[in-house]
Amino acid sequence: MVVGAGLAGVRSVEALRAHGFAGTITLIGEERHRPYDRPPLSKAVLLGGTDSTVVDSDLGALEVSFRPGAAAKGLRPGVVETTEGELPYDGLVIATGARPVRLLGDGPQHVLRTIDDALGLRALFAPGVRIAVVGAGWIGAEVTTAARRAGCEVTVVEAADVPLAAALGPVGAWTVPWYEQAGVDLRLGTAVASVDHGGLTLADGSAVEADVVVTGVGVRPAVEWLAGSGVGLDDGVVTDEHLRTSLPGVVAVGDCAAWWSRRYGRRLRVEHWDTALNAPEVAVASLMGEEAVYDPVPYFWSEQFGHMVQYAGRHDGGRLVMRGDPGADPKWGACWVDDRDRLVAVLSVDRPRDLVQGRRLIEGGRPLDVERLADPAVALRDC
Ligand code: FAD
Repeated sequence: MVVGAGLAGVRSVEALRAHGFAGTITLIGEERHRPYDRPPLSKAVLLGGTDSTVVDSDLGALEVSFRPGAAAKGLRPGVVETTEGELPYDGLVIATGARPVRLLGDGPQHVLRTIDDALGLRALFAPGVRIAVVGAGWIGAEVTTAARRAGCEVTVVEAADVPLAAALGPVGAWTVPWYEQAGVDLRLGTAVASVDHGGLTLADGSAVEADVVVTGVGVRPAVEWLAGSGVGLDDGVVTDEHLRTSLPGVVAVGDCAAWWSRRYGRRLRVEHWDTALNAPEVAVASLMGEEAVYDPVPYFWSEQFGHMVQYAGRHDGGRLVMRGDPGADPKWGACWVDDRDRLVAVLSVDRPRDLVQGRRLIEGGRPLDVERLADPAVALRDC
């Protein structure tokens, strides 16, 4: 059985069949939709380019019993308790993803996680509509991009001193001009106290008036249904490097899984599409008794203010080497190296080759010539 019919869920079904599993597969999903992709929700859907992002997967050919609108409520060994009754299982994939964090206050507050959220929000975008976006992270930046394109007046309120602070640290400051050029009122270092009718109340007591408030301040793993089940939980479902949980015959994948990374020597929970796409292959192999390890260099992308922003690796403690001058050249990047000059993370802005080559260099782990790394005219693979 697979619980959670997002990308990681449907990929798990595909992987089960690809591994030759011929038994019954039940896929249960709380949403009343066929599995769909989320990255386009804040891009093509909000921009009006498409209304559907359904994953190209033939559920009929996969012979899966798909139960949309059914939610898991609890788990005990061999049985998932759902809103449609108890369902027995021999093997279980947990793929329940994550849910957006909401702020305090009784004013209307939009989040962006589902296709319904995206279509609902898009319908509110119109010239002159005042939108307050809380959070200048990935979602906040993409919502802002779409809202400005629709002619809305946008104020972005961010508690940190730079956009994308959690992901990029000080390098996020180089995206401030994108907000300015787009005509966005960006308020950094500004905490929100509550979402109220008519806008936001800030921590200093002042107000931001808005017709629509969108909150993009992060997500939490959707694992409340596993409380007391015996599945270890710690910021998501705790798994080993094979994506096995503490309960025999149960694996976890995607945004809800906190797996042990051999590469980084710590547990990782990565809320990115690439993880939902690729982890199921390993989880299903483990479920079927094969020896498989999940140990990727994490990767994600974002499309904001007309720029393709891509990042691979992890840079905690790494030394920053800027690649190009963001003030002079709109196509730039950043690299982080460790104390042996090995690349640990790469950020590329409209330089997709840097991303591809950088990811390989991170995987390979050879020392680089840092002076050449700083020169954007030198290909990363030649550094
Ligand atoms: P989800 O997609 O969250 O799917 C989990 C499913 O399980 C949901 O349908 C949920 O309703 C269901 N569920 C939850 N609880 C239960 C329950 N108890 N019973 C049954 N069903 C349940 N990543 C990138 O790398 N690049 C991007 O540009 C990017 N853009 C994004 C834009 C948006 C707007 C969003 C929301 C995410 C974006 N992401 C992006 C992240 C990426 O989409 C996620 O990492 C990915 O969707 C995770 O897939 P998942 O299957 O693990 O979880």
